[in-house]
Amino acid sequence: MNTPADRSSGHAPALLWFRDDLRLADNPALRKALDTGAPLIALYILEEGKDAPRLPGGAARWWLHHSLAALASAIADKGGRLILRRGRALDILPRLCAEAGVSAVFWNRRYEPAAVAVDTAVKAALTAAGIEVHSLQANLLAEPFALKNKAGTPFKVYTPFARALRALGAPRAPLPAPSALPDGPRDIASDRLEDWGLLPGQKPNPKPDWAAGLRAAWQPGEAGAAARLKDFLDNGLKGYAEGRDCPAKRHVSGLSPHLRSGEISPFQVWHAAAHAREAGAAPERDIEKFLSELIWREFCASLAFHQPDIATEPLDSAFRAMPWRDDTAGEAAWRRGQTGYPLVDAGMRQLWHEGTVHNRVRMVVASFLIKHLGIDWRRGEEWLWDTLVDADAASNPANWQWVAGCGADAAPYVRVFNPILQGERFDAAGAYVRRWVPELAGLPDKWLHKPWAAPADVLEKAGVTLGESYPKPIVDHDAARRRARDAYEHVRGAR
Ligand code: FAD
Repeated sequence: MNTPADRSSGHAPALLWFRDDLRLADNPALRKALDTGAPLIALYILEEGKDAPRLPGGAARWWLHHSLAALASAIADKGGRLILRRGRALDILPRLCAEAGVSAVFWNRRYEPAAVAVDTAVKAALTAAGIEVHSLQANLLAEPFALKNKAGTPFKVYTPFARALRALGAPRAPLPAPSALPDGPRDIASDRLEDWGLLPGQKPNPKPDWAAGLRAAWQPGEAGAAARLKDFLDNGLKGYAEGRDCPAKRHVSGLSPHLRSGEISPFQVWHAAAHAREAGAAPERDIEKFLSELIWREFCASLAFHQPDIATEPLDSAFRAMPWRDDTAGEAAWRRGQTGYPLVDAGMRQLWHEGTVHNRVRMVVASFLIKHLGIDWRRGEEWLWDTLVDADAASNPANWQWVAGCGADAAPYVRVFNPILQGERFDAAGAYVRRWVPELAGLPDKWLHKPWAAPADVLEKAGVTLGESYPKPIVDHDAARRRARDAYEHVRGAR
């Protein structure tokens, strides 16, 4: 261990606190820590306790396990070691720094208000102990406090937000990964990742192993993120503007869980798209559309930064008057992908199997829960929080509020996504529904998105018995739409 005397002798280690930035490339805090020339302690804390930021759900914990394993191995390859601890950051960091004689702590900033509160408290404790703290911008192209509208208040509408972000100019170039990492003191204790029970079926977590589909679909970690990006640039970007709406097509990047855990930075993604533009690899409209989606991520982060209770309170307070329904059976059918609406069921089954849902279908399944079933958007937000590998404390609630009609720049409440028309338009050949709802695979395209309307002989030929092999619709579309409009009158009355 280093003593406080070592701190002034130049041998005192620097500490890098990894959080939502599980990568070595384009990691400004890592770069700055290395610039000191000091031995490096690389630390990850599984934050728990009352003041911890929102705890990850099941699928995100699975992701975190594998992402940390990949990071630990990448650090070891470069000569370093990742230290793991669990508990309150405010307890762990000052103690560890004192024990190891750390002179300076480095981290990349995060923006979820609960996380900001932790970081502020940790910074105060470390500074009071005479330890330098350096925080850097790494995970957003524009920090939420950097962008304000003309009135000096945070943006609540996407388009002017995006304009202001772009007016900042091209994002800085990404930093390369370091070629080597100087190891810190060898005698610092670390937890074993396996003991954290982040995986299903792993002690002390007795749940069955539900992660086979996740393992098949994803490669968490920096290398997996780079491979996704390359695949997207080679095969997805060209045609993105239209193809992104078709869930059976491979036009979306699949980068969201990698961005969520910081295995890749938005700067890396932005510049990769800009290089594709220079190389003429895709039409301008595809590149522009893709960049505008990246900016949606920034917009959500900004909303959540300025609205700490975004997951629990509607941004439009009139929605407190909404008479949400209790419908345990309906909600269970929605979760299990047994609503009788093929596109909704396909999405919910993809979610359970792969920990993701295509964006177009996310909007459809969310709208179905809120408007067809009349169930509070917060119930859906919590379910996706538990089941999405990209579950994000800003993007998830902000998008749920958007669909519900109570969020920033939201779709009007009375816009009810029609799951039949959405299916016929965006999954016209039925490949997505046939993949996830195989019991309907034999139906002709014409009836695939509305099997209840198919003639009896067509159903029989396809081997479909409604109510047995596949459910009848749990709610009638037109009746549900009328009920949703009636319920909305309470919100209108509260304005
Ligand atoms: P691409 O089309 O390749 O887009 C590139 C990147 O842009 C994405 O990786 C993502 O970082 C960002 N992006 C795209 N669309 C959005 C959007 N609407 N809002 C914010 N960022 C966006 N996204 C999450 O990252 N985490 C969530 O928890 C989340 N929950 C959602 C819940 C609902 C109800 C809805 C309707 C959307 C949600 N989204 C969430 C947004 C969006 O569905 C996903 O970001 C997108 O499907 C990820 O797939 P992709 O990486 O292939 O996207």
